[in-house]
Amino acid sequence: SESLTVAELAKKLGREPSEIIKKLFMLGVMATINQELDKDAIELICAEYEVEVEEEILVDKTDLEVYFEPEDETLQEERPPVVTIMGHVDHGKTTLLDSIRNTKVTAGEAGGITQHIGAYQVVENGKKITFLDTPGHAAFTTMRARGAKVTDLAIIVVAADDGVMPQTVEAINHAKAAEVPIIIAVNKMDKPSANPDRVMQELTEHGLVPEAWGGETIFVPISALKGEGIDALLEMILLVSEVGELKANPARRAIGTVIEAELDKGRGSVATLLVQDGTLHVGDPIVVGNTFGRVRAMVNDLGRRVKDAGPSTPVEITGLNDVPQAGDRFVVFEDEKTARQVGETRATSALQVQRSEKTRVTLDNLFDQL
Ligand code: GDP
Ligand code: MG
Repeated sequence: SESLTVAELAKKLGREPSEIIKKLFMLGVMATINQELDKDAIELICAEYEVEVEEEILVDKTDLEVYFEPEDETLQEERPPVVTIMGHVDHGKTTLLDSIRNTKVTAGEAGGITQHIGAYQVVENGKKITFLDTPGHAAFTTMRARGAKVTDLAIIVVAADDGVMPQTVEAINHAKAAEVPIIIAVNKMDKPSANPDRVMQELTEHGLVPEAWGGETIFVPISALKGEGIDALLEMILLVSEVGELKANPARRAIGTVIEAELDKGRGSVATLLVQDGTLHVGDPIVVGNTFGRVRAMVNDLGRRVKDAGPSTPVEITGLNDVPQAGDRFVVFEDEKTARQVGETRATSALQVQRSEKTRVTLDNLFDQL
């Protein structure tokens, strides 16, 4: 019952799948990249690399990346940035998210009923920007703990009448740890007590020196409440994104991350996915975390049914067998049979891992080792 595919084994051993296939061939076993290997074959290969097989090597199925081969960079095109908003409580994160959405989304999309799916897209100067609408800290902590990198840029909101607070510092640390560029939105500039100089001074102490003072950090004064400075902020996001040269290939099978998911009474498992590379289509066979299915219907952030979702697009899907978790990765497969096979194996493995805390610890050790 316990097995690994060639791709998974290669990943574990830190080798190319083609190398494993060659070794297997030398040992008289013909195999393809997605082929499940039995315990004997795994042991043979591990012996070749002088790696001792532990039972646990067979149950770690957490990494879906193995089914997404890297490819020629020349096939990639520019993609929209994915932005997370963080900051201290009451400094204006929700107000800013609403303000951006209200001024930008409804303008060009008359008739669209905005729908909360955990992320949305706006257009500034003809270019799209994706905002994660989930609490910024969660996006960094939960998702990063699960190995997902979803954010290209962090907006840290600091209220000009309150200054740098503990969660401001926390946000800075999250962004720095993720090596994500930071833009500071100095909010509540409409208040008579606003003191932007103090905000700049305090942030300088955390290594964020404003451009005006010879540093590299972009500060944008805004009033999220009054909708002032929003365009300047969006323009800065696009400017910083251009430097990052964010790219993806819309022509390939999709890969990405679960933003949020829940069980809906009528529709069953509903998940918001952020497509990070490739294009997701209705009908695609898909593995999401430890569940799988076929994309039955897709709805965008305006509540409209769509058939395709390209890079950096958030989309809500139905059609999964079970409810995945925020931060889970997803990958589209060419055929339903493989998706089912991989999905079922992962579901079984996840159960096995769940059953034994001891196994989980051993897995972590193993992961460190390889
Ligand atoms: P969050 O906890 O960071 O999401 O903060 P909220 O967006 O909920 O805002 C907290 C409070 O600050 C609310 O009462 C907002 O109306 C207010 N607020 C947010 N932005 C501004 C602003 O630009 N100016 C003023 N005067 N108040 C604001
Ligand atoms: Mg809020």
